Amino acid sequence: MKLDAGVPGGPIESKWDRHRFELKLVNPANKRKFEIIVVGTGLAGASASASLAELGYNVKTFCIQDTPRRAHSIAAQGGINAAKNYPGDGDSIWRLFYDTVKGGDFRAREANVYRLAQISTLIIDHCVAQGVPFAREYGGLLANRSFGGAQVSRTFYARGQTGQQLLLGAYQAMMRQVRAGRVKMFPRRDMLDLVLVDGMARGIVVRNLVTGEMESHPAHAVVLATGGYGNVYYLSTNGASGNVNAAWRAHKKGALFANPSFTQIHPTCIPVHGTYQSKLTLMSESLRNDGRVWVPKNPGDKRPPNRIPESERNYFLESKYPSFGNLVPRDVASRNVKEICDQGLGVGTTRYAVYLDLQDAIRRDGMEVIKKKYGNLFQMYERITGQSPWEVPMMIYPAVHYAMGGLWVDYNLMSTIPGLFVLGESNFSDHGANRLGASALMQGLADGYFIIPYTMGGYLAGTRLPEVTEGHHAFREATNQASDMMAKLLSIRGKRTPADFHRELGRIMWEYVGMSRDEPGMIKARAMIATLREEFWKNVAVPGSHKDLNQALERANRVADFLEFAELLLEDSLSREESCGCHFNVAFQTEEHEALRRDETCSYVAAWEYAGPGKATLHKEPLKFEYVELATRSYK
Ligand SMILES: Cc1cc2nc3c(=O)[nH]c(=O)nc-3n(C[C@H](O)[C@H](O)[C@H](O)COP(=O)(O)OP(=O)(O)OC[C@H]3O[C@@H](n4cnc5c(N)ncnc54)[C@H](O)[C@@H]3O)c2cc1C
Repeated sequence: MKLDAGVPGGPIESKWDRHRFELKLVNPANKRKFEIIVVGTGLAGASASASLAELGYNVKTFCIQDTPRRAHSIAAQGGINAAKNYPGDGDSIWRLFYDTVKGGDFRAREANVYRLAQISTLIIDHCVAQGVPFAREYGGLLANRSFGGAQVSRTFYARGQTGQQLLLGAYQAMMRQVRAGRVKMFPRRDMLDLVLVDGMARGIVVRNLVTGEMESHPAHAVVLATGGYGNVYYLSTNGASGNVNAAWRAHKKGALFANPSFTQIHPTCIPVHGTYQSKLTLMSESLRNDGRVWVPKNPGDKRPPNRIPESERNYFLESKYPSFGNLVPRDVASRNVKEICDQGLGVGTTRYAVYLDLQDAIRRDGMEVIKKKYGNLFQMYERITGQSPWEVPMMIYPAVHYAMGGLWVDYNLMSTIPGLFVLGESNFSDHGANRLGASALMQGLADGYFIIPYTMGGYLAGTRLPEVTEGHHAFREATNQASDMMAKLLSIRGKRTPADFHRELGRIMWEYVGMSRDEPGMIKARAMIATLREEFWKNVAVPGSHKDLNQALERANRVADFLEFAELLLEDSLSREESCGCHFNVAFQTEEHEALRRDETCSYVAAWEYAGPGKATLHKEPLKFEYVELATRSYK
């Protein structure tokens, strides 16, 4: 298979403009003849539904939750990037493009990243027009703060609730279309399969999570905006319903899965505190604007942090990376935190934590200023740990956070299945091997508000799409297959809960394919997962029936796919013989323990084709860097 990303020719600055002009258009009167399915109501899905319906298409939108507003995007805290250069500190589209390509350790497609940087400025205007209450400076301009991997302030925010406010904007735009009759909303639905007719995506099969009923939904095209797969590690900062199901089922139908081993581990999360914990909590990267990361110089120093004098503190990020200090990108910060803890210098009862200290900032700027910026984050930390960051430094440790990998898409955001578009965190995205903070919201909204409205039109106008109804045998086959799987899960009546299998899978993943990886460990993990999967299908305990609300069945369905997907993630990690961004193979590191890329052989996107259970074929999309010079990433 030859992967063609369909990147338009010409200078990078005008590629998108030219492409938009060259894409075919659907006549306004014909738009209402098309039905489009959008799965997902996070920022990517809600913005896509609203924009496509606004254009006149008929949209059917699906989500797992009882309301679209509960999509995981609501949890996003810190902010959204845009190259507006309001502070006049040297930002530009070019700089955002450069920072993103470099931040992703040169494993992203240049043309897509440039387009993202261009669109970033439109997103902010669009959201302001919707009424999103971004923080403002005294003079009225929108305020900005800094995020990792950048030396300019380009992050727009609404306290520590940026995702919530942006999602309310996208939600209200979508609900306006629900009222206008152009979006039909299907909450509490779980997508179980993608339906292909003549090789094209023509619909989905879903399970109604309340009644248990299977439903078939035909359409002219399908958009997946189903979020990331970070929960394959069990413990993560992701919402509990985060899954790989929709993407995985599409993968099994022919959509290539790209860079599955690129999983971001975020440096500042509340550390794990017990074996039965089911969720980890992020402490936003925005805190690193003012927070200083440190450990005591003397290992095992038992004094309370406030009694340890400056001279006995090791501000290890500031001393190792003087240019970027505490705002080095996430992969770099996470690895350094791990390294310092592995050396026995960590703090807290497990010694797997470091301090994130805002005392200097509180003293310098005063409580009121800090409260305005981070008040809700402080409150959240105190509620969870019982300690007030106003009085003592927070304790943090890295945790799984974001999936840079996902379904492979071309420049039009179309997967290798014609008519299947993938947006937001569920595509392999523009972030390469490491995402810079505040860039996921930017990408999800760029995809939904500003890219899919054009590329969808181009596809629909240029493709012959005969009528397909839910009576088509492809729907019957997909429904039967999905029903058989549910029946099988219910028939096992074993001894271990789906959550128990999930927890064990997560432990294996974190240990062998987490922050650092080596070949023997990954080979061992692959065998362990194969054994676990075998046991799952003999010993999983799913009580109840498929005919009504059954959360154990939902969970088992998720874990079944995670167990298959985990093997692909390992395969991808094993095959990438270099270190880059979040993918840190200990065999490839510099003398200073930084990731060592091998551009001659590894400058590619790994795109995996499903080849039967436990098997996958690797295709490579070569990455060319014509505008940003390939260089060793340095934040010193
Ligand atoms: C705690 C936290 C804080 C973050 N803060 C920031 C930040 O400050 N800035 C930033 O840029 N990024 C941030 N991120 C990342 C960012 O929030 C996400 O990448 C982004 O919101 C993902 O949006 P999405 O629309 O792609 O998917 P999601 O918001 O995850 O939505 C997925 C949707 O798909 C639906 N769905 C999933 N599977 C199925 C299925 N099988 N059937 C039917 N429906 C399905 C769900 O119901 C949901 O509606 C943060 C992430 C976390 C975890």
